[in-house]
Amino acid sequence: MATDWMQDYQGALKSSGAFREFFNEGFDENEMADRSSVIDTYSFLLPKKIAERIKLLGRDSALAKQFLPHLDEKTNSAGMYDPIGDKTHSKGGQIIHRYENRILFAPTTVCPVMCRYCFRKNELNEKDDLFNADFEKTLQYLKENPEIEEIIFTGGDPLVLSNQKIIFYLNAFSEIKTIKYIRFHTRFVTTIPSRIDQGFVSLLTEASKKFESVIVAVHTNHLEEFDSEVDAAFLKLKALPIQLMSQTVLLKGVNDSETVLIDLFKKLISLGCRPYYLHHPDEVKGGMHFYLPLEDGRKIYAKLRNKLPGWAIPQYIIDIPGGHGKVSAFNPESYRFSRELITLDGSILKL
Ligand SMILES: *Cc1c(COP(=O)(O)O)cnc(C)c1O
Ligand code: SF4
Repeated sequence: MATDWMQDYQGALKSSGAFREFFNEGFDENEMADRSSVIDTYSFLLPKKIAERIKLLGRDSALAKQFLPHLDEKTNSAGMYDPIGDKTHSKGGQIIHRYENRILFAPTTVCPVMCRYCFRKNELNEKDDLFNADFEKTLQYLKENPEIEEIIFTGGDPLVLSNQKIIFYLNAFSEIKTIKYIRFHTRFVTTIPSRIDQGFVSLLTEASKKFESVIVAVHTNHLEEFDSEVDAAFLKLKALPIQLMSQTVLLKGVNDSETVLIDLFKKLISLGCRPYYLHHPDEVKGGMHFYLPLEDGRKIYAKLRNKLPGWAIPQYIIDIPGGHGKVSAFNPESYRFSRELITLDGSILKL
């Protein structure tokens, strides 16, 4: 029998036909044609409950902007295919190893939604061999690289895997004694909250006994993503012996405002979730209509400190194009960007 979350997942709107049919009344014919033509280039996926909420909130809502296809995706030719340089650090198979002590582990390319601003939107479509599965190679790599202490489940979204499959991976990782921390990065909690089911709760509880720390990092960008079901999913996670944190992408037209961010972070802390990262948007081809200059982001971020306790302010970070990794995006001394980057080894790189 399919579980609740699988029904929610399988019932999502997927094709341009489904998009047209559902949002029929929201757009005039030309705009509908423009928007659905985008789906040939960048796929569309939207759980029904979110689609229904978008109908209520309207086409200019933060939800609509995040999840409905827009012609700008095709017409704006700026941006990069691989904006954060993941390919530079791909170790083949399922691993991206950029920082010494931790790896990204991507057992799937699939997500519960297709975020229009996705930094991997070109790769996810391409289905290139960055993500081709080969778990034996992954385990071998971990054994050969004992400096790796943390496995970060990502994708796609690792929660599209069944609980059974996740348990299989966790058991294998628990055999490798150098692995201390397990982290999940997921978009499910605010898009298909039923995914936080009893089986997932149990597997996290078990994992917390096998590893020093288990972390769930929830991706969410706006208060409109929350309802009572979403709140309940957060509270289930909050009750577990894990660290619950959030990641937010700063997006033009969605949350590039002090009040929107403060409302979101206050909501998160009310649910026991600590804001972890605020990502400056990546310069991804097809997502440049969400891009804003770093200086604009710095001006917004500077204002958060007056209204939020320090522990509720996420780190504002930017992934430097070309695979240089994450660095602090905020410079409290100047809104301007010096273009002199202090790299991971402490040297200065002129951008
Ligand atoms: C973001 C990222 C991580 C995780 O970094 P944290 O700063 O620990 O959250 C790990 N590996 C890669 C390649 C990343 O891009
Ligand atoms: S959940 Fe993340 S990887 Fe998946 S579509 Fe959204 S931004 Fe991209």
